[in-house]
Amino acid sequence: MSKITVAIDGYSSCGKSTLAKALAQKLNYNYIDTGAMYRAVTIYCLRNDIIRDSVVDKRKLIECLNEIEVSFVYNTITKTSEVFLNGEHVEKEIRTMQVANNVSAISSIKEVREKMVILQREMGKNKGVIMDGRDIGSHVFPNAELKLFMTADNDVRTQRRLDELMSKGEHHSFEDVKRNLEKRDHDDTTRKENPLIKAEDAIVLDNTDLNKEEQLVFVLKLINDLLLTKDEFNKPLAKH
Ligand code: C5P
Repeated sequence: MSKITVAIDGYSSCGKSTLAKALAQKLNYNYIDTGAMYRAVTIYCLRNDIIRDSVVDKRKLIECLNEIEVSFVYNTITKTSEVFLNGEHVEKEIRTMQVANNVSAISSIKEVREKMVILQREMGKNKGVIMDGRDIGSHVFPNAELKLFMTADNDVRTQRRLDELMSKGEHHSFEDVKRNLEKRDHDDTTRKENPLIKAEDAIVLDNTDLNKEEQLVFVLKLINDLLLTKDEFNKPLAKH
């Protein structure tokens, strides 16, 4: 059966990565969490004094870009690709609120985006990939066979992120987490470079009232239908 590219974009904490991981496991596709890449760059900046009091030293960051290597390694236990910064496993550190509070400033920088997009296109060039982020359907893979745009009620998203942070031992107030989500959504949708937008041909998935299983079933059906049409189309014509 042929393979396709699935682009999943949407607002912060809509469950993009949960859905993407589940799809990748079901289909035996690669999962690429592009948010993790921008978060890894943010860690580098926080550690190297490129971000001070939430202000980014853009010149210094651009000078250092060649020293920042972001990669993924498949973890056979968690059955997902995990992100590395210059060879160091940073999967846990990228999820902290400190990183969440600074990542949109880093992801708005043109030179950072250009570097990440080259890597993303390289990782997805053979198809069979589920990639989630903000600009995948609109910019990274505009020809992706399936584009989803995910959204959900702000309070529902906040509670999900709060639960996720708490399960990792980070305790924050509902208001702080909500403020962070709304600020990131605002920054991500209004930035100049490849802002978060719904690609024209993306299918909107509002999962406010859907559980994980329902979302998975819905998207697997879309993929199945697509693959059937694609394989039917590619079939050689019968010889007479
Ligand atoms: O998806 P996640 O919440 O981990 O993304 C973190 C941040 O990375 C987003 O708020 C956004 O600023 C940035 N991002 C982006 N483009 C992507 C993926 C993420 O700008 N394709």
